[in-house]
Order: sequence, then C-alpha cells, then structure tokens
Amino acid sequence: MVRRVPLSKPFINQEVRQAVLDVLDSGRFILGPQCSEFELELAGCAGRKHAVLSSSWTAAVYLLHLAMNLRAGDEIIVPSHTAFPSIEPMMHCGARPAFVDIDDTYCLDPELVEAAITPRTVGILPVHLYGHPADLDPIMAIAQRRNLWVLEDCAQAHSALYKGRPVGSIGMAAAFSFYPSKNLTVLGDGGCIVTDDDRLAERIRMLRDHGRRSKYTHEVAGFNLRFNEIQAAAGRVGLRHLEELNARRRGVAARYRERLAGIVGLPGEREWAAPVYHMFVVRTPWRDDLAKFLKERGVETGIHYPLPNHLQPAVTSRFNRLPTLPRTEQAAGEILSIPIHGQIEPDEVDYVCDTIIEYFKRH
Ligand SMILES: *Cc1c(COP(=O)(O)O)cnc(C)c1O
Repeated sequence: MVRRVPLSKPFINQEVRQAVLDVLDSGRFILGPQCSEFELELAGCAGRKHAVLSSSWTAAVYLLHLAMNLRAGDEIIVPSHTAFPSIEPMMHCGARPAFVDIDDTYCLDPELVEAAITPRTVGILPVHLYGHPADLDPIMAIAQRRNLWVLEDCAQAHSALYKGRPVGSIGMAAAFSFYPSKNLTVLGDGGCIVTDDDRLAERIRMLRDHGRRSKYTHEVAGFNLRFNEIQAAAGRVGLRHLEELNARRRGVAARYRERLAGIVGLPGEREWAAPVYHMFVVRTPWRDDLAKFLKERGVETGIHYPLPNHLQPAVTSRFNRLPTLPRTEQAAGEILSIPIHGQIEPDEVDYVCDTIIEYFKRH
C-alpha cells in the first residue's frame, strides 16, 4: 500500500482559524496588539528583554547587522553547512563569511573556531541546525577572550535547550524564523531578533518601520520590513502548542533511532542537549537512490543541504581563498531528511521506517 507522507507540515488548527478571523474583525493589520503580545511572548520564551518581529529571519538579521554597524571587510565565523540565508544578510553588508567545518551533530565545531579568527573577525554565527543546539560554552569563551559578538541562528531550534538554557538566550542576539516548515509557524514568512541590548532592539524597530519612532519623524532612512497582525495571532496560538509539538518530534526521533539503528547513519546527540528535531537527518552513501525509492512509495524527503555554502556560485564568484571542509562536503553527498513534524502519526513514522528497511533488504 502506497501512502503519502509529507516531509513537514505547518501547524493549523481550529484555534488558529479563529484567531485569524478575530483579527479580520479587529480592523488592525500591521504592528498592532497581536504583534506586541507575540513579541513579549517570544522574548519570554527565549529568556530575553526584547523580541523584534520582522518579515523573515533574513530581513530581521539584515536589520540587526545594520543596527550593529557591520562593515565591508568584516569577517564572521559561520558553518558552511547551513541554509544559504544564514550568510545572505552579512554579504549584503559587504562582510565575509569565514566558513568552518561541523561536528557529528552537524553544528559548528568549536575546536575549529580559534584557527579561523583573523584581525578582521568581528563575530561568530553558530547555527542550531536541525534543532540540535551548537556547543555554545566553548564558542562563548572564545568570543569573550577575542572580543567577538555571537549571533545564534535559531531558525530551526525554537525552544531547544543548551545545558538547560533556551537557545537564543546566550549570545549577544539570536534570530528565529517562522517559515512554514519550521517548528513554529505563522501562515507565511516571518522572523524575529531577540536580545537584551536596548539600543539594538530600538534601532531594529526603527529600521523595520521607515526609520521612525513616532509617526511623522524619520530619524534615518529605513525599510518596510514590518510584521502583521494576522500572522502574529496565528503565531501566538502556535507558541502555546510549541512544547507539545516539539515533544512529538522528540518521540518521532526516538522511534527513528530505535528502528533505523545499524541501517543508516544517525545524527549525533549530546547529553547536554534537549534538541527539538526540526529535521531528522539520516546518512547513507546510497542517498539519491534511497530518496528515489522513498518517493516512489509516497515518502517525501529533502536534502539540507546538497551544495554547501562555501561552494555556492554566489560565494565562489565573490570570494577567493575559500576553505576545503571535508566533513561538510562529505555530509552534503550522504544526508537525507526524512519526514518529521509536530502532527505526524505513529503509523506514518513506521511506514517510513518499513520503507527504508525494505530498500536496504533489496539492495
Ligand atoms: C530557514 C532558515 C533561515 C532563513 O529564514 P527565513 O525566515 O526564510 O528568512 C536562516 N537560517 C536557517 C538555519 C534556516 O533554516
């Protein structure tokens, strides 16, 4: 029997529908009370003073980089193995991504950070990839010693814990995405910055809304990269369900580990981590063939990511002296993301496992 199992699914229920309808009746559509409340709740979740919403992670981080005065020639240490948007905002500021390799959790390997620092390095951008926290303590220690800032990319890790502390609570600032595949969704694009820095938060708020703090006074030239009430209302409902959806993801990951051990490579998980499994990524040298086999049987898969950022044309055409990153490059050819989301059913998970097991029996 062929079924259809999607890779991911945004959270929509009756409460979300009702929240949207209530906004339609409110007559307020942009940066109103839903946005303010959503910001307070997001700041609370990340243990931060401020959360500032914007139209995507990419937009929010671009505004943050402008607010931080990131300059042409600055260098930022970042894993290559991440979504391309992780490095887009810095590239728009003329900064250079200094790519480093990953460890077996697919996150920035802290052992490799020190060697990537040059006199032009200004910051480190660790990514909590697939919902597993990057090892922040050694990264923060290096940053303090070398006077660098740390920006956490939390796009895939809403509510994950690093040694008991929520991701996003540790660096100078952190950025979240609410894109429809992420653990927290808003019926479209969305993102936010969290920070304790009053000045940064204030500047990002100004820049996202035409450079103003009051209606008719524009202190600087800004942008229109605001957030809206309908999506904030949907996000607030999602946030109330986030822990239960993440718990479901953890249960799915445990089931995958149990059934697929010894059949495919499984992702590393540290004892200090409470990951939220944005993706469940398995590994095999027969990746493309396995993906085809699964597709024919209705199982959607993904590759996050097939071409590492240090090999992307946008990067190779612009920067020279790019590094070779053996672990990243090998992973790119072997990784496969299999279905996981907050509403996936146990029989769907078992169907995915049965199909993978069947593939390896035949080959
Ligand atoms: C999705 C994602 C982004 C970009 O988020 P957008 O909201 O789509 O701009 C950045 N970094 C990582 C790791 C992501 O997964």
